[in-house]
Amino acid sequence: MRGEIGADVAIAGAGAAGMMAALAASAGGASVLLVERDPAAPSNLVISGGLFAAAGTRWQRAAGVEDGPERFAADILAKTGGAVDRALLRAVTRHAARAAGFLADSAAVPVHLADRAPWPGHSAPRLHATPAESGAELSALLRAACARRPGIRLLEAEVAGLLAEGGAVAGLRLSDGRRIRVPATILATGGFGADAARLAREIPAAAGALHVGSRAADGAGIAWAEAMGAELACMDSFQGQPHVCPGEEARLGGALPALGAILVNREGERFADETMGPSELAPRIWAAPGAEAVEIWDEAAQQAALAGGPFRAAVAAGAVRRFADAAALAAAFGLPPGRLAATLAACAGQGADPFGRARRRPLAPPFYAARVVGALAHTQGGVLVDERARVRRAGGGVIPGLFAAGGVACGVSGHGAAGYVPGNGLAQAFALGLLAGEAAAQRAV
Ligand SMILES: Cc1cc2nc3c(=O)[nH]c(=O)nc-3n(C[C@H](O)[C@H](O)[C@H](O)COP(=O)(O)OP(=O)(O)OC[C@H]3O[C@@H](n4cnc5c(N)ncnc54)[C@H](O)[C@@H]3O)c2cc1C
Repeated sequence: MRGEIGADVAIAGAGAAGMMAALAASAGGASVLLVERDPAAPSNLVISGGLFAAAGTRWQRAAGVEDGPERFAADILAKTGGAVDRALLRAVTRHAARAAGFLADSAAVPVHLADRAPWPGHSAPRLHATPAESGAELSALLRAACARRPGIRLLEAEVAGLLAEGGAVAGLRLSDGRRIRVPATILATGGFGADAARLAREIPAAAGALHVGSRAADGAGIAWAEAMGAELACMDSFQGQPHVCPGEEARLGGALPALGAILVNREGERFADETMGPSELAPRIWAAPGAEAVEIWDEAAQQAALAGGPFRAAVAAGAVRRFADAAALAAAFGLPPGRLAATLAACAGQGADPFGRARRRPLAPPFYAARVVGALAHTQGGVLVDERARVRRAGGGVIPGLFAAGGVACGVSGHGAAGYVPGNGLAQAFALGLLAGEAAAQRAV
């Protein structure tokens, strides 16, 4: 038919999940059409910190870290109170390590264990990254890997929907009227963080919050699958970001609290255990006076945090300021100097932490500080998939020909903000992307 394009596998979206799926499908012998609306616009992968969780990797073994899928799964169950689909949990925790190995071995992406600080929610060091520890670098490396594979064609076009045929999916419809007809279709267009109307419905608590994720995350992929009868789950799940510098559009990254940083409100007082986990810390800032806080750390934390790409970018953007003493810091941010001095003195005290913070150490001048607000990073609810990343139909079975990974698919983060553990967005995108690519190639070839 005129205007119809053929291939073995079609993938909507060239972000974290889409590029991993393309590489896996191509490695499985399939010809792949990777359809991306705007290759120059930042995806959530580009914006991300680029840290991905994986358990039982060779990088962990080399560092003497004992870990594995069961321990990873137990950590997720503890953090989410068990509110995770078990088949999905098995798929993500078992295949994240394989995805990390695949990145290194089949895509020539240099991977290391990013273990400079204990990450909340993980009982073992298991966050991995590329050398610059940034999502932009990771995305560029994946883009280059896709370009090197002759079996992958990147098509710059907007996907307008699924090509539905008798309850099955036979490909994609493009907004220019063309159709892609394939045996296997993978949805990887991301979540719905940029869809204000759906946010207001599904996550009212985050509806008015600053969204620091990609504007491409319009939730369309979820809606297309939903219209085909897909089962949705955990639509109230999201990642909060508590270390966002307003105005500069910069992020400090999540490493600072474990390195000793504290947050104070406008009164110069702490208001939470800063090490509780970045995602659930964001709503605590929303609840603080003026919905803002000042994050304070010292030289040792500054030097360690510089390993993180977003933190380096924040420093380069001028979002981080250095102060010789607490009085100068208080004056710069309009904090009551006496209260701030008392707060810093209390950090050095030996008594129990009023917020139950376990890892605490005195901060010594010079101090570093930045004003921060809480933000919405990305959504974690979406279509439920099985252990081969096939989209499950509400009421049982799967939708033939349709796979999903990344933000379109439900994550392993339970409900609300508190179940999200750092690195699990990309862990899901990479694990399900790998599974979807492999299963799509098997179906097609
Ligand atoms: C601020 C921030 C920090 C983060 N940090 C981390 C981190 O350090 N570790 C971690 O694990 N996770 C992190 N995440 C989450 C992580 O980025 C996401 O989980 C991951 O990128 C999801 O992958 P994806 O492929 O679904 O979406 P994306 O990576 O966003 O890719 C989706 C792609 O689909 C394209 N697209 C959308 N609609 C269409 C259409 N109609 N037609 C064609 N193409 C389309 C988009 O342009 C985009 O390129 C962070 C997210 C944010 C916002």
